[in-house]
Amino acid sequence: MDAVNKESPFPSEWISGLPGRIFGYRSIQQEIAIAKRNGHPLSALWVEIDRIAKINRTFGSIGGDYVLASLFGRLIATVGDRGKASRMDNEELLFLLPNCKQDDAVRLAKELIEAVSTPLGIEGVQIHPSVSIGIALLEPDEDPFDFLIRADSAMEIAKENFGNTYYVSGEVLAFNAARASSKDMDIEARLRTGIESNGLDLHFQPAMNSAGQVVSVEALMRCNVGGDKIAPGDFIPIAEQSDLIARIGNWSLAEAAFFAKLLSDEGWRIPVSVNVSRVQLLTPGFVSNLQSALLCANIPPELLELDITETLFFDFSPGVQPVLKEILNVGVQLAIDDFGTGYSCMTCLRDTPVSKLKLDRSFIAEVPNDQAAVATVSGMVALGKAMGKIIVAEGVETVEQRDFLLQLGVDVLQGYLYSPPIQRDALMSKLQQKVFVTCQ
Ligand code: C2E
Ligand code: CA
Repeated sequence: MDAVNKESPFPSEWISGLPGRIFGYRSIQQEIAIAKRNGHPLSALWVEIDRIAKINRTFGSIGGDYVLASLFGRLIATVGDRGKASRMDNEELLFLLPNCKQDDAVRLAKELIEAVSTPLGIEGVQIHPSVSIGIALLEPDEDPFDFLIRADSAMEIAKENFGNTYYVSGEVLAFNAARASSKDMDIEARLRTGIESNGLDLHFQPAMNSAGQVVSVEALMRCNVGGDKIAPGDFIPIAEQSDLIARIGNWSLAEAAFFAKLLSDEGWRIPVSVNVSRVQLLTPGFVSNLQSALLCANIPPELLELDITETLFFDFSPGVQPVLKEILNVGVQLAIDDFGTGYSCMTCLRDTPVSKLKLDRSFIAEVPNDQAAVATVSGMVALGKAMGKIIVAEGVETVEQRDFLLQLGVDVLQGYLYSPPIQRDALMSKLQQKVFVTCQ
């Protein structure tokens, strides 16, 4: 056992090697007395291992005990001789930190979150453990049990906010910031594991013309980690903050190009569109990677399209416009994604070398019942068509929406009404069985 509780007269239980909650109650009284006598601060960290019930369900109670023993070991080693520990409940430890101010307690909580976050192997599966931590700083004349209750309640708040974070009793802002950053760290760690364990995948959603034929498919990235899914809306922004965006972006270009090749070999010469974020577009070598994807898959450039957000077309900061030009020189088409959510300047739109405008699904969701949305969508369609663009409506879910949009003259419809994004093989078999028919 570690130096944490050398002096404990109480028996230790075998999983944590720590004394139980009676010791916790006893030592809190002692530590409060010492802190008062010396005029020193005293902090408490109440730590709970997250998702232990799920681990028990998956790996049985022996597996659960193994996880607890490993994580308790990491926690105890990290605290070292900075505090006294006791096991307050099955997956809960209490650390009392003599002469420890709130800032130091927060620093230690971050160290504990970090120490626990290293993946743990169990029965050949990598799990991503995390903890919820409640922090309380002893107040003048506070009752020992009130002090404990505050630490425990703070931990409950951290847990309610998805765990993997800490909460300082009584502090709201610090908590939000900490939660955001530790959540980001968690997503990044899981994304890295997803990449390393072949958890990345592309799903494909068909887009239909007015006759109900598939005219293109959109590639949408998926990330699976040990059975858990992370949504692209969550992991793309995190990937953009690290080196990962170039890696996964190049991978999706290559995969999408291979799928376009597969489709064309079967006689369906329809383009596959790939979403490209600003950071990805500005990554050095983006255009060469695009060319490599075309070359490796052996497809002509018109079988690949890039979805780029509206704001990028009107972004005149260095680098953006030259890259867009280079892409067009390669022969790959560009579409304005989420059209209507940015700030398009209408005359600029006329001069923009894009073939497609993809109307954002937030507008489509409101038609045909909401008069303001009807006016907005009608205006955007009329404007786009007058400029010779192909108009795509995203997020079409109902027959009423479809009929309204077709009546307006929308060229292409995409949404759950036809199909959600599905796996490559599922899309191929729907095409083979003529559930979907292409325009070719
Ligand atoms: P997006 O490009 O606007 O993609 C459309 C999103 O709407 C997709 O969400 C799709 O699954 C969803 N969707 C399609 N039809 C319907 C419908 O009828 N109703 C509703 N409610 N939703 C529908 P998803 O797959 O979660 O992707 C979210 C966003 O993540 C995408 O928005 C795109 O901006 C980004 N993304 C996805 N894959 C990639 C990628 O490979 N690279 C980059 N940079 N971004 C990606
Ligand atoms: Ca898109």
